[in-house]
Amino acid sequence: MSAALFPLFADLRGRAVRVVGGGAVAERKVEALLHAGALPRIGAPELTPRLAQWAAEGRVQWDLGTFIPDWLEQVWLVIAATDDHAVNRAVADEAEARRLLANVVDDAELSSFQVPAIVERGELQIAISSGGHAPMVARHIRRQLETLLDASWGELVALLGRQRARIRARFPEMGERRRFFEQLLAGAVPRLLRQRQNDAAEAELQRALSLAPNAPSIGTVTLVGAGPGDAGLLTLNALRAMNEADVILHDRLVSAEVLAMARRDATRIEVGKSAKGHSTHQDDIHALMLEHARAGKRVVRLKGGDPFVFGRGGEELEILKAHGVPFEVVPGITAALACAAYSGIPLTHRDHAQAVRLVTAHCKDSLDTLDWQALAQERQTLAVYMGVAGLETFRDKLIAHGRAPTIPFALVENGSRREQRVVTGTLADLPETARAFDVRSPALLILGEVTALAHTLHWYGAAPLTAPAHASNAAAHTLSRAA
Ligand code: SAH
Repeated sequence: MSAALFPLFADLRGRAVRVVGGGAVAERKVEALLHAGALPRIGAPELTPRLAQWAAEGRVQWDLGTFIPDWLEQVWLVIAATDDHAVNRAVADEAEARRLLANVVDDAELSSFQVPAIVERGELQIAISSGGHAPMVARHIRRQLETLLDASWGELVALLGRQRARIRARFPEMGERRRFFEQLLAGAVPRLLRQRQNDAAEAELQRALSLAPNAPSIGTVTLVGAGPGDAGLLTLNALRAMNEADVILHDRLVSAEVLAMARRDATRIEVGKSAKGHSTHQDDIHALMLEHARAGKRVVRLKGGDPFVFGRGGEELEILKAHGVPFEVVPGITAALACAAYSGIPLTHRDHAQAVRLVTAHCKDSLDTLDWQALAQERQTLAVYMGVAGLETFRDKLIAHGRAPTIPFALVENGSRREQRVVTGTLADLPETARAFDVRSPALLILGEVTALAHTLHWYGAAPLTAPAHASNAAAHTLSRAA
């Protein structure tokens, strides 16, 4: 087994580094060197336009010509970035003789140092190396880390850098200091930085420094939109929150696929509610959130779709606010947007609909209080979040208020999920069609001219199902399940 590389971060500010080559690869290396404050000296017969510009501006030095050993005088490092193997080898040999570290781009064999793949957040840098064996693997991991770490990490490092002396003075003992940092990193300071409240973060750090060590800290609740089911529709912020959670309180609507993305040792608690059987009362959900937050836990309250669209997210935040529990909100892709996209129905369209309304018709009460006049207006799309129960009333009221019985609809069942079904028809036959195809919750009703486009624009799963007009229940039923 070969020995491992020794990782190091070099301070190249004001130090000369030789770059042999003037092409696109050399340009990238020179750019990185400039970023680190180094003084690049390029040796090459010609330069890319950008390199030439930097040379003209005096930001880099340029020696015109082909490689000569003299180019390695008075430099700290050398990078060979030519496409001529013989030149690269000559540079490497000459560097070796002078005990200079040399990197030959894409040639681990000839290199005495490697340039890692980098994730950078301010002064926080994460370097990844495969020892030159598989640069693609390093780059792949780099991309994964890029999605994992948001920009606030850079701010955190800067803040802690500014307070470094104070922190050391306050906790001179190493073990104590480590515990302080562990608490700090799990606490309010990183959250406030994520929330772009840098002054509050600074104040919170000062406060933590003035407290007794290990004073209990309160947890937080992050209200996270889990989207409609397809885990690919989670946001990066949702993923990050789920990665850090101690406790996840999730609705029944949240798909198993999404839950599988959460940190493995997070405690998962289903607080499922269905339209009929309220299995967990809203007050109990509030109590659970408060209990875990007070125990110092990072709680994720995971809701289907978006937490602020028919999700009672507002109520939950009001409770948290009243009890002084800090919170964050991560929006999610709401069912209307997902179901529309996954069934090929543009919710607005210049020819058909200039407005879209999100409506809920979950219970009898909501059906009674809707503004039917407004809902029956033409040239708009309705996205109706509902149990499949109220369809009859829905159709009757809309038609009574003037919406044409021939307006097409689409019922999207299990939108964005593997089992997605799209059932189409016209308003006149809405409840019968839903029954005939045995549409079940969760399903979203989309009503409006735009839904006709599902027949041409569908791209996900099976083509939309259509019942023949006025089909008898029995006939349509055979149609649907036979497919
Ligand atoms: N906050 C959620 C909505 C909660 S209300 C959101 O933003 O999506 C629950 C209703 O949402 C369901 O009755 C159904 O009408 C709709 N819904 C949620 N997920 C759905 C899905 N994957 N497919 C179809 N409808 C869905």
